[in-house]
Amino acid sequence: MRRVVLFLLTACVVVAISWMIYRLPGTVSAEIGPYSFAAASPVAVLAVIILFAIAYLVVRLIGFLTFMPRRLRRWRANRNRRFGDIAVTRALVALAAGDTGDARREAGRARRMLGDTAQTLLLAAEAGRLAGREDEAEAAFRQLSEQPDAAFLGLRGLLRQAMERENWAEASVIARQAEAAHPAAVWLRKERAALAVRTGNWVDALHLADADAPKAALAAAAAAQATNPVQGIRLAKQAWKEDRTLTAAALAYATKLRADGRESRAQGILRETWQAAPHPEIATSFMVTLPDGPSRYAAAKRLTKGNPREIESRMVLARTALEAGQFDDARFHAEGARAAGLNQHRLWVLLADIALAEGGDTEAGRIAQRDALRHSTTADPDPTWRCSACGTPTAAWTPVCPACAKIATLRWSSGPIRATPAIAAQSAA
Ligand SMILES: [Zn+2]
Repeated sequence: MRRVVLFLLTACVVVAISWMIYRLPGTVSAEIGPYSFAAASPVAVLAVIILFAIAYLVVRLIGFLTFMPRRLRRWRANRNRRFGDIAVTRALVALAAGDTGDARREAGRARRMLGDTAQTLLLAAEAGRLAGREDEAEAAFRQLSEQPDAAFLGLRGLLRQAMERENWAEASVIARQAEAAHPAAVWLRKERAALAVRTGNWVDALHLADADAPKAALAAAAAAQATNPVQGIRLAKQAWKEDRTLTAAALAYATKLRADGRESRAQGILRETWQAAPHPEIATSFMVTLPDGPSRYAAAKRLTKGNPREIESRMVLARTALEAGQFDDARFHAEGARAAGLNQHRLWVLLADIALAEGGDTEAGRIAQRDALRHSTTADPDPTWRCSACGTPTAAWTPVCPACAKIATLRWSSGPIRATPAIAAQSAA
């Protein structure tokens, strides 16, 4: 209704103005140079109105043509953003569904529509990884790592890739860059801890370890690695305090104490660990500075004073007694180990040596030696370090299993893990 009224009012005004123009009296004449014209007043006014209308249209047309490229760009940008957002959503859905083809296609479309933003690069990288195109993913992660605000995302992807390739040197460099880009990231701390373990950087591995990590093994390895004497002794002490039954911890601590001129304390540490969990390397370290058989046998007696009936104690006493020329003592301790249930290769080799020493170069001595060596061929295998997780044997103790990379899983055992020698000895005694 309101529009109708307005239309009627406008029509009235137009008709009134038209009527006034039509009723204008007189003529309009003009002379411009050699040209002259004359027209009735209504005609002249109408001509002026038409000229104004044409001029207005020309100005509008010029304005439209001038701003058309900008408007076109804006229209295209809006269209790209709309379609790019749709492609991002579709790529996310495809990634979640594990649809590699769609994920790569939509991620590529999103990049074309929206350009190389952090979101589109991350989508392209993840889609590439999902499709197994690691080079494609790496290129996207690398571009992402060059964007100041999103560098951490790119470095995170590159670090993951480097660790999967087991390129530890490259991974270490990327981890440092990621740490600089986003300090104290929880995820990065775990990755750096795993990286330190894989690269054998035990000081870092200990520093980055979780509260429930087996710190004794890491600290023992870190102590052995430390070049600073003060740091080395602190780490070794930490390892031994954490686990006094850990051979590596006792050895590391004793070695550091000796280097510091504290031989007596070093021997005390070795004796205490020997009592808790005897291991041949403890005995070797205990006697490392002693030059001859008698002094070594005397040292073995001091070491095993607290647990002389342990199988490892009997073995070290027998071996050092033999070196000292105490053949009766050597026989006594070796037979004691056999009576306690030990039937390992090393015991029969020791008995063969004792038999040869007792009998000298005689027929009886050679027969006794041969008899013992024959037993050694069918005896139980000697103990070695063995992973309690995967069962792989290894010659020397390491904080991480070389086969399955689990931390602190190595146990001193003569076969598939059943018990430590200490436990076996106790149960046999
Ligand atoms: Zn293992």
